[in-house]
Amino acid sequence: MSDEQHSPNAVDPSAIETAAAVRSGDLSAVEVLETSLTRIEEREGEIHAFNLVLAEEARETARRVDDAVAGGADPGALAGVPVALKDNLCTKGVETTCSSRILEGWKPPYDATVVQRLAAAGAVMVGKTNLDEFAMGSSTENSAFGPTHNPHDLSKVPGGSSGGSAAAVAAGFATLALGSDTGGSIRQPAALCGVVGMKPTYGLVSRLGLIAFGSSLDQIGPFSNSVADAALLLEVMGGHDPGDSTSLDTEVPAVSTHLDDGVSGMRVGLISEMMGEGIAPDVAARTRAAAECLAAAGAIVEEVSVPAVVYGLSAYYLVAPAEASSNLARYDGVRYGMRVEAPTVGEMIEATRTAGFGDEVKRRIMLGTYALSAGYYDAFYGKALKVRTLIRGDFDAAYGNFDVLLSPTSPSTAFDMGSKTADPLSMYLNDLCTIPSNLAGHPAMSVPFGRGGDGLPVGVQVLAPALGEVPMFRTAAVLEAAAREEARS
Ligand code: GLN
Repeated sequence: MSDEQHSPNAVDPSAIETAAAVRSGDLSAVEVLETSLTRIEEREGEIHAFNLVLAEEARETARRVDDAVAGGADPGALAGVPVALKDNLCTKGVETTCSSRILEGWKPPYDATVVQRLAAAGAVMVGKTNLDEFAMGSSTENSAFGPTHNPHDLSKVPGGSSGGSAAAVAAGFATLALGSDTGGSIRQPAALCGVVGMKPTYGLVSRLGLIAFGSSLDQIGPFSNSVADAALLLEVMGGHDPGDSTSLDTEVPAVSTHLDDGVSGMRVGLISEMMGEGIAPDVAARTRAAAECLAAAGAIVEEVSVPAVVYGLSAYYLVAPAEASSNLARYDGVRYGMRVEAPTVGEMIEATRTAGFGDEVKRRIMLGTYALSAGYYDAFYGKALKVRTLIRGDFDAAYGNFDVLLSPTSPSTAFDMGSKTADPLSMYLNDLCTIPSNLAGHPAMSVPFGRGGDGLPVGVQVLAPALGEVPMFRTAAVLEAAAREEARS
């Protein structure tokens, strides 16, 4: 597949460059958008990154941005930058489906806070991207509207659940995209598609208007072709929102101004539990190469054990389904989307949920309901919460000695479509390295770091303590520079 043109993005202008050129009047937002739309025209048929392309709405926005510049106004930090939105983010009057039949046709009455902030910064929303139904999955094959294909190799998955957003950026359909990350859904598809993906500290980005999956785990975050673009997008969309009761009342860490600070003297811990069993040798080798490159740049790199992370998967697959079973109770055929008529209310609800939800969503609802049921609550849900506390404690201990931690993002490069759909457990194992940060509420990001034995992108994960976005981005910037240098030589 010819991916060299767009990913990692050596050729395309970055979001920062595009916005600067649009703001100064050197480039028109309409032209920028037409480049995106042409690419979508050419390749969307085979990739299927979008549930909905908003070509006309985007043209209208782009024209308004150009008019503002012509009139001497400043449209904002993302002026004219094409952005794709995961289809679990509410967009006023625009269908928002979560890639589920049950929400088909539903048009939210309001915009998510992040959508409002992007619009206020002059961004041009090009469409709503495909995902695993209600963000439950790691391959975007659980979409009710068909899977998304990896732009690097159409026979491979793009990862998930934000596979459409990752693919849209990798294919050059949009310069930036938004995803949501409950257990890795931004970082893992970013790794598999060769782009940057970042999950912020829990509470740093407002969840108002993000359709809830696991409310104590969900965070919205950026996809981009560069670390600097991810930093800009985080700064635009982050910050306190009184409309989200879990929103932190704090400033977004000033990541952009520290990107060039380097890692000299920084303490970096390579997580031992994420380098052995279950990790493909080529991915582990790239992660070691990343550690070496940080050491060469002056960081103090050591292996560190974070023992409780090995229980992350088990705890997550109780906590997340438990929260999901509660969050998804609202889709009852009365208030949102589809309804299957039946003689009584009870039968209507049952028929609607039977027809509206896919297999994985039903599996999670049943798992979660069971884990929360009276006789089993302490044994399952209660125990999982204790493990969650243990994981946070082990991370705290590690961060007593290290500024950031390092691991692979995903245990393997992009896998064959259909290869894991029959076995949910093998699919869940993809989240091994990403889940612990969600359970702890910590930030983490995936940076492309070369290729695996199959020639497909490998992502390396940088983890940091709560509100440790600055050291995390500094580390990511060093890795990105090294990976680009390596690709050139
Ligand atoms: N793959 C994980 C799951 O299926 C994570 C999903 C996510 O982060 N939204 O639950």
